[in-house]
Amino acid sequence: MLPSPHAQHAAPRSPIRGPALPLGVAVTAIGMLFSIASAPVVTSAAPETMPEPVAVVQVPTVKVGATVAADPCAEPSVLAALSSGDDAGAIAGFGGGENFRAAVVAGNAPCISLSDPARLWVVVNKTLPLNPPEYEPAGLDAVPLQMTTRSGLVRSDVAAAVGQMADAAAAAGVGRIGANNGYRSYGLQVTTYDAHVRAQGQEDADAGSARPGFSEHQTGLALDVVACDAACGGLDGFGGTGQSDWVAANAWAYGFIVRYEEVGTPVTGYAPEPWHLRYVGVDLAAAYHAGGYHTLEEFFGLPAAPDYAP
Ligand SMILES: [Zn+2]
Repeated sequence: MLPSPHAQHAAPRSPIRGPALPLGVAVTAIGMLFSIASAPVVTSAAPETMPEPVAVVQVPTVKVGATVAADPCAEPSVLAALSSGDDAGAIAGFGGGENFRAAVVAGNAPCISLSDPARLWVVVNKTLPLNPPEYEPAGLDAVPLQMTTRSGLVRSDVAAAVGQMADAAAAAGVGRIGANNGYRSYGLQVTTYDAHVRAQGQEDADAGSARPGFSEHQTGLALDVVACDAACGGLDGFGGTGQSDWVAANAWAYGFIVRYEEVGTPVTGYAPEPWHLRYVGVDLAAAYHAGGYHTLEEFFGLPAAPDYAP
């Protein structure tokens, strides 16, 4: 299932106040021309009543050779960023999120490991466990949202981003966003998964809970959000709320993707989880959104991973 870029899909329905939107990511490595529909200026969230935009502006074509190194992993700026843990700087050295993605898919990024759990681009799925299995992220911080469990830590960069996202959602009038779970250690995942197996049996547990060592929550880059109106709801109640609709449309601008969408189930092996957000940073999330991707596996050209190895 190959995604195809659609300019209409890529165009935000309403402008996001917050981080600068890197429109440059809409320019693909093959120099394709994109037409970005000009978004009408609105401040209230009522996209379903808005007419389809008719005016378009042309984004200039950027010649790949003019902006992207032939061998990005030989670029001193890329190597320096990687060695200092500056993931955004490394992505910038590739020429932005879409160029980074394209280089990884093309096999032109040997310095980029999709299995490094400390990187924004790590992919964790049923065939790609954490390495090492008991990996613990550094720099955990409190999620700056109302929590409904005691698992209220994420990486500090993720904490800052989700706080900005929740503030923007509240400012847009869709209500408060809280969180249910952030970082879960290997040991806590043992407990969580075992509880699911006891309650549902292994097959159903595997559709909704990762086995220990296979959970994005262990990276500190994932969290589960809930809608908090008079009180905070649960995970199963999140889909269909105003908060959920807003998150699906706008979380990318704050660096998050909805990791388990319904259309992605054959690829991920997980039932839809509109509440499970994975932080990949603004550059990659914008490229993901602009390209119309629905799974991280497709984004990075990886095989589908619906099942654990036998
Ligand atoms: Zn989750």
